Amino acid sequence: MAGVLSDQFKRGLNLQTKTVGKERIRKAQENNEDIAILSMDLPGENKPFKCVLGPDCLFGDQYSLPLGTKKMEYKTRQWHEKCFCCVMCKTPIGTQSFIPREQEIYCAKCYEEKYATRCIKCNKVITSGGVTYKNEPWHRECFTCTNCQTSLAGARFTSRDDKPYCADCFGELFAKRCYACSRPITGIGGTKFISFEDRHWHNDCFYCASCRTSLVGKGFITDNTDIICPECAKQKLN
Ligand SMILES: [Zn+2]
Ligand SMILES: [Zn+2]
Ligand SMILES: [Zn+2]
Ligand SMILES: [Zn+2]
Ligand SMILES: [Zn+2]
Ligand SMILES: [Zn+2]
Repeated sequence: MAGVLSDQFKRGLNLQTKTVGKERIRKAQENNEDIAILSMDLPGENKPFKCVLGPDCLFGDQYSLPLGTKKMEYKTRQWHEKCFCCVMCKTPIGTQSFIPREQEIYCAKCYEEKYATRCIKCNKVITSGGVTYKNEPWHRECFTCTNCQTSLAGARFTSRDDKPYCADCFGELFAKRCYACSRPITGIGGTKFISFEDRHWHNDCFYCASCRTSLVGKGFITDNTDIICPECAKQKLN
């Protein structure tokens, strides 16, 4: 059956924001908060600085942070403000939120491009909802019957060779057929049926060929392709 995917993707984003302001920065550092901090070295302060971009530093000197130049700090690492860029599109994060992943910094757009859940059918990003089938994500509207293409999200379906089918199509295509009426026996919805050797009947179709009484739960005798009740069989013998 299909399960509903919750807003898994959005929760997984783990967006970070940046903070400025002396008090706020002090507090964040004390509490070891998971945020990036934009600050400036104050005169007299002489902390060692090294821009993470190293030789690719946009400032031109990874060790230089002249007074009045802002630096970004995140966890144990430091960047020049303009060097704090999305690893994919190289756009400075600026005032935007960002997403840290392993040692990389992503803007929200690139992160989505790269890591978002994609529908196995149309390959587009699933931003919310969707269904999982065989552990793979689908848009609700993409999860359709293999045969008639009606949406199966929230509907009853059956799979065959790992492909989902609506109940009607499955019945038409694959179900056992009743020997008497030739209509499919779907088994969905608790349809009861009788099997005997390699033949199957709907309960309602399982009756004596001679007197037409139901043979469900009773003894019966086969007479060529017919099934008949013991009484009719006896009369036939006489
Ligand atoms: Zn730099
Ligand atoms: Zn980006
Ligand atoms: Zn899709
Ligand atoms: Zn169908
Ligand atoms: Zn039947
Ligand atoms: Zn009979």
